[in-house]
Amino acid sequence: MNAQLSPDPTRLTAGFLSAPHKLFINGQWVPARSGKMFDVINPATGQVIAQAAAGDASDIDAAVKAARQAFETGPWPSMPPSGRAKLLWKLAEAFEAAGDEVGTLESLDNGMPYRVARFVAVNGVAECLRYFAGWAGKLSGEVPTVSFPNHHVYTLREPVGVVGAIVPWNFPLAMAVGKIAPALAVGCTVVLKPAELTPLTAIRLAQLIEQVGFPPGVVNVVTGFGDPAGKALVDHPDVDKISFTGSTVVGKSIIAGAAGNLKRVSLELGGKSPVIIFPDADLDRAVEGAANGIFGNAGQVCVAGSRLYVHKKVFDRIVEGVVDRAKKLKVGAGLEPDTQMGPLVSQKQLDRVSGYIASGKEQGAEVVVGGQRIEGKSGYFMQPTVLAETNRDMRVVREEIFGPVVCAMPIDDDDLDRIARIANDTDYGLSSYIWTRDMGIAHKLARKIKAGMVRINGGMGIDYALPFGGYKQSGWGREHGREGVEAYTEVKSISMALN
Ligand code: NDP
Repeated sequence: MNAQLSPDPTRLTAGFLSAPHKLFINGQWVPARSGKMFDVINPATGQVIAQAAAGDASDIDAAVKAARQAFETGPWPSMPPSGRAKLLWKLAEAFEAAGDEVGTLESLDNGMPYRVARFVAVNGVAECLRYFAGWAGKLSGEVPTVSFPNHHVYTLREPVGVVGAIVPWNFPLAMAVGKIAPALAVGCTVVLKPAELTPLTAIRLAQLIEQVGFPPGVVNVVTGFGDPAGKALVDHPDVDKISFTGSTVVGKSIIAGAAGNLKRVSLELGGKSPVIIFPDADLDRAVEGAANGIFGNAGQVCVAGSRLYVHKKVFDRIVEGVVDRAKKLKVGAGLEPDTQMGPLVSQKQLDRVSGYIASGKEQGAEVVVGGQRIEGKSGYFMQPTVLAETNRDMRVVREEIFGPVVCAMPIDDDDLDRIARIANDTDYGLSSYIWTRDMGIAHKLARKIKAGMVRINGGMGIDYALPFGGYKQSGWGREHGREGVEAYTEVKSISMALN
């Protein structure tokens, strides 16, 4: 189906939404031991659309036991890599077959435009599964050169063990599969805790995992709240690694929680990414890139370009262009066919973003466009917002807003060191964006910026071959690419005396 077409949401999802959802543990669908359920809300309407089981520490314990058993005695790590790869491919195909339904669920649950959901939640996820399936048989150790004579040495890469995957609500399915796929490829088993705001596609993922025949316990899905379910996973003494995406605040608590058994920890956290536009850039493309980079997924994107630094010679032109796009953006429910920007994910997120705009105004920022909740709609709709007259001391410039709000600031400088200092003047270091036709400037500046990712003239979207992650308080480690696969392994060195 053409992803441009609006699906028939009722036909596609009615059965799924009305089902009483359970937890997926050891290949079985089981209710939460407490019997508790929680409401799943459509952010475009504020209405309850489904219910999910509220797992707690006892459910997490059961899921970890299942994952442990599948790792130690089950067939997973010992399965030939081609067997693991084959199942990951089958899962990719199952997602494609269920693409319209999964895209619809993601759009209903998170609010994102259907086109984005279909492209990211289905095509992207299938790509992800196939990319990491390819790694199953390609991991290798080394034969290092050592100084001891008459010894044979080599290293092995082995799966780290039971992985706890904790994911946020902004790209629920892509985040979940982005963690599960590399972990499974190398032979780990997984307990997934999706965000309580967006559990639906994680449940659908578990159904497809069951359908394509993964052995019991290899993937377990426990829906529920950050505390108790997520916290119990972090604290659990039999989990070997936590792979987390979410806020920096929770990321820090995970480091503390993981200390109990010194779990391995990967963290993909927040960002406050700079967009730097030079006067020689293709200004039309730069405007488009800057607008898409902050209004895409309503700004609920860790790599959102939220600090817009524009050379003073073209500042007015760029700001006018971004403002014009903000005015023209069609904001609506994700399943309306012409929607370009959906609602924020929750009332809490709407309050949080509104609170930041209010704080910006109090500190002297000018609202050039937007700044208000969209009235007359029952969902959590926010106007795309451009702030000017902002400076480094304002909270809107320093903190991650995670909404469609960009701070535009002129750069009155041509010195690359000083421009890099401005770009690096943040606790975060996730992504960065440079717009110029001068490749010398682009690549010199790219090396000076302290961020895990630099995108020049737009760069590209997510490609699973390219490492993804941040410097400073944007996280620990990298997802995707070789680094992302190796993050789910331990290295063992073996030496043997030859005489
Ligand atoms: P959180 O960091 O709280 O949530 C991310 C995940 O962690 C969710 O699955 C959450 O569960 C879980 N979690 C929450 N508390 C704990 C805990 N103590 N132990 C283990 N897991 C836990 O993000 P929020 O949803 O609260 O969003 C707040 C802000 O975080 C946003 O406004 C944004 O600034 C930032 N954020 C950044 C993201 C990124 O990609 N960098 C993604 C999401 C948010 P549950 O949902 O059930 O609480």
